[in-house]
Amino acid sequence: MFPISDKARRSVLDEPERLRLLSSTERDLIRLVHEPGYSRWLEQITSIGGCAHPIYLAGHTTTHDVATGEVLRHYDTSGEPGGRMPVRCRNRRETRCEPCSYLHAGDTFHLVRAGLLGGKGVAEGVQRHPRLFVTLTAPSFGAVHGAFDGAVCRPRRDGGVCEHGRPAGCGQRHTENDPAVGQPLCRDCYDYAGHVLWHASAGKLWNRYCHMLRRHLATAVGITQTRLREHLTLSFAKVAEYQKRGAVHFHAVVRLDGPDGPSSPPPLWATTDLLSDAVRSAADQIEVHTPYSPATGERVIKWGKQLDVHAIRSDAFTESSAMTDSAVAAYVAKYVSKSVGDSGGIDYRIQDVDSIRLAPVNAHLRALMATSWRLGGLPELEGLNLRAWAHTLGYRGHVLTKSRQYSTTYGELRAVRADYQGGGALALEDRETVTESAWRYVGSGHSPAEADIAYGIAEDLANLRKLRKEMIAEGWRYAA
Ligand SMILES: [Zn+2]
Ligand SMILES: [Zn+2]
Ligand SMILES: [Zn+2]
Repeated sequence: MFPISDKARRSVLDEPERLRLLSSTERDLIRLVHEPGYSRWLEQITSIGGCAHPIYLAGHTTTHDVATGEVLRHYDTSGEPGGRMPVRCRNRRETRCEPCSYLHAGDTFHLVRAGLLGGKGVAEGVQRHPRLFVTLTAPSFGAVHGAFDGAVCRPRRDGGVCEHGRPAGCGQRHTENDPAVGQPLCRDCYDYAGHVLWHASAGKLWNRYCHMLRRHLATAVGITQTRLREHLTLSFAKVAEYQKRGAVHFHAVVRLDGPDGPSSPPPLWATTDLLSDAVRSAADQIEVHTPYSPATGERVIKWGKQLDVHAIRSDAFTESSAMTDSAVAAYVAKYVSKSVGDSGGIDYRIQDVDSIRLAPVNAHLRALMATSWRLGGLPELEGLNLRAWAHTLGYRGHVLTKSRQYSTTYGELRAVRADYQGGGALALEDRETVTESAWRYVGSGHSPAEADIAYGIAEDLANLRKLRKEMIAEGWRYAA
């Protein structure tokens, strides 16, 4: 017998030891690549763009010819890995799922653009209707630090202090990424209750605003609001954007159509100037009152003084000062993939006051969350639902809202895409068919290794998109 060399012994003994030293993700990866359906799973995840949090479904879909009973199309998950198939999570937030948020932003772009240029079922005449891009802001709730292109933040010669003894000015020149930007100069002077109550009332303020806008249009031409409907309709799409100070702004496309919506031209007197005047005058007048509370009093909720109104020009006419259709659509689409999480907040619901204390946010946002929580506990403010929306700082509106007549819907855009990806409808035009399906939810999400692989797929697809764009820009018109 020859003694086994130390080196050989180590290599044998170390095998389980080495496995133990692997991270749990590495061990999971070894498991995953040895699964029988691994290559099919890769295909599936690629087909859903590397979604970060897929929903797994099991079931089948069968299409029959009604007359002959012939099976024209059949899909069943029993042959798929684990007997299931993943579908996209469709989360709009970049922080949750980058590939799905990209898709959602793309849909938003097309939805907003169709309302400006027509197409996707919207009449092309909308290009010639009066259209404005309007930004409505929240008022000031107290002085905050800001980045002003290298200028001094808040110059004050007298070097005064507030009643809490803190400097009333700031002589620094902040850059965009300076953590001080958006933070109040004095947290005790800042009106936290006013800020969250404004957020909680912003949805109502917007609805009243649209109503007031119609009234101002009617008054401008001397007719009643009821008569106005016989002449025109007001359509809009708007997004909410969180600023550094944690307050939302609304960016809205506002359009005037004829009485039958996008397909009918507005009357000749309904000009861009008339709409622009009404947008401004209605913004000044509108207000909402919060329920009275001994803690906050009754607050009057109004728009901030900063109001931007731009006419939207068609892409065909390029005027340097005007915003174009596509620029507006791209701008709006950018915001739907953002949430309060991107402004340093969190994008999950708060369950108790301790999680506010532990939330990974700056002191200002924490104070806003804590104020939402505190006011949410008061019976007289119950209707504002402030506790459920403490993580969004009291704002409970959707990120994107649009009027019914504005343009197409997300559902329609998705249906078109599904048809396109499925190679379009089968050639079934002259047959009467029936489709029967049964699906059930069997799980969701990735294991650690699956998550890494999906991330890699999403990254590859993003690089491919970039490459394709560059090739097209360089004149490779038919780049695959
Ligand atoms: Zn996803
Ligand atoms: Zn400052
Ligand atoms: Zn103060």
